[in-house]
Amino acid sequence: MWGDKRYHTLDWELKKTFGEKVIKLSLDGGFTCPNRDGTLGTSGCIFCGEQGSGDFAGSPALPIREQICQQKEFMSAKWPKGKYLAYFQNFTNTYAPIEYLDTLYSEALAEEDIVGLAIATRPDCLPDDVIDLLEMYAQRTYLWIELGLQTINPVSAKFIRRGFDLECFERAVGKLISRGIRVVAHLIIGLPGESRSDYLDAVRYVARLGVWGVKLHLLHIQRDTDLYHVYKERPFRLLDRDEYVSIVCDALELLPPEVVIHRLTGDGNKKLLEAPTWSRDKLRVLSAVDGELRLRGSLQGQKSPST
Ligand code: SF4
Repeated sequence: MWGDKRYHTLDWELKKTFGEKVIKLSLDGGFTCPNRDGTLGTSGCIFCGEQGSGDFAGSPALPIREQICQQKEFMSAKWPKGKYLAYFQNFTNTYAPIEYLDTLYSEALAEEDIVGLAIATRPDCLPDDVIDLLEMYAQRTYLWIELGLQTINPVSAKFIRRGFDLECFERAVGKLISRGIRVVAHLIIGLPGESRSDYLDAVRYVARLGVWGVKLHLLHIQRDTDLYHVYKERPFRLLDRDEYVSIVCDALELLPPEVVIHRLTGDGNKKLLEAPTWSRDKLRVLSAVDGELRLRGSLQGQKSPST
């Protein structure tokens, strides 16, 4: 058990490492993405909203120092004290000249009580000089890199317009891990045409690659995305809560106990959410996962080949 949870939560991992609550501050470094700026495409991934993947991030118009102050203030209502982690979440946070990246990451780390960095990016935006820079930061602070794999099914990868293949993902994960950099893989559950076996194959795949953490997202239909228009024209079946919870529990059983679970359900913009509406009640989803694991008498890693 990890505290009162049957899976290895990020909250537990960070408390164990830093001895107290660590709060992520979502920052916007003013990046774009090759999937949006015309390098690979102009429309982005099919589920990507106007804010990229960071609906709660600070404003890119503000310097990092001010975004950090604002986010600390915002978070203090819920968590009056703790340490902080600077989370570069919006768009592709390594997609810029190396000097810009270095300045930005350094500025964030220079702020009071910032104990680490979390950087979301794409595996095709990690050239060798960026990996060298990240290795330097990994030696200097607590660092993880998030990569949006989403699916290992090539048909789905094309449908979501991901723009990189599995070989590219594997190469990036291999390089990062070999430099001692923590890697978090994002996976989506609920893509049209995919089944439970697709989702679980993807979970086995990232576990085999040795990722440090996993983020599971429920497929949301958000009104500012192309996916919304596809869904309106040709509606497809979305998962109901019980199915989702059952797939998540199967996934947790397969993941080795040391893999840190960063998220078990989406955290999209509630105002823009079209469906599935049950996902608005995140606490209910999380408590259903707890209940299902309890009922199964199971824990994360129970069916992992490594345990
Ligand atoms: S890689 Fe991320 S930021 Fe770029 S289009 Fe896809 S979801 Fe949006």
